[in-house]
Amino acid sequence: MLIDYHVHALAHGEYEYSFSWIEEYLRRAQAQNIAQIGFSEHDWFEERIDIELVKGVAARSEFCRMMVRVGIEVDYKPGREPEISRILAQKPYDFVIGSVHHLGEWPFDHPDHKNGFLQREIDEIYQEYYAMIDRAVKSNLFDVVGHLDLIKVWGFKPTARQENHFIKPLLRGMRMSGTVVEINTGGLRKPVKEMYPSELLLRDLFAHNIPITFGSDAHHPEELGSGLSAALQTAWKVGYRKASGFTRRQSTSYPLSEIRQGIS
Ligand SMILES: [Zn+2]
Ligand SMILES: [Zn+2]
Repeated sequence: MLIDYHVHALAHGEYEYSFSWIEEYLRRAQAQNIAQIGFSEHDWFEERIDIELVKGVAARSEFCRMMVRVGIEVDYKPGREPEISRILAQKPYDFVIGSVHHLGEWPFDHPDHKNGFLQREIDEIYQEYYAMIDRAVKSNLFDVVGHLDLIKVWGFKPTARQENHFIKPLLRGMRMSGTVVEINTGGLRKPVKEMYPSELLLRDLFAHNIPITFGSDAHHPEELGSGLSAALQTAWKVGYRKASGFTRRQSTSYPLSEIRQGIS
């Protein structure tokens, strides 16, 4: 049994919510031994999210053993807070992932904008990115921090400091706000070839009692569950014994040993 709380059925907008497409995701999730699946479209597709449709598919008897949830991945930018609150009030989401994909107007994780990393001091970029994460956490709008160290996506790493130098000042705020951090395996499919967060950061999170969940960041049924067994093993090695699931914005923790059972 695995849990996957970061799933895009619309991908980057090229697909639609339909009974058969959602069914395809649930079938694939079942085949991957995923016991809990949470859809989390980008908030810019908010109008296309159809919670009732997902519930209709999930109600089929073949999926009765799965927990199917619908959340949303919100792009955090300072000043967007009122707009985000309005978006979150539109639909009864089970969970909300807060993600930083922009520094100012720079969409740093977009392949066309990767050169931005060559135009500034890398440590300064990291500093600015983690300041945004801190603001996202302190906004108290989100249940989960998305891909915590996404800033490493193209493989540009800080020079003067270790990665965790940037995260340490944030940990207290994270714990106080009760924010969950996802282990997002999408990074394994990107040039950096690491999950988010790195094992080094995960150790700091564990030391500060910060809860975790798991997400594949699948943009296609074939990516569902991808890398999650390895992520589980890493979490276990670091010391984690529980992971969070979500219903109507309440989190519940599940023993990692149960989640692990399906892994051979
Ligand atoms: Zn994202
Ligand atoms: Zn995503």
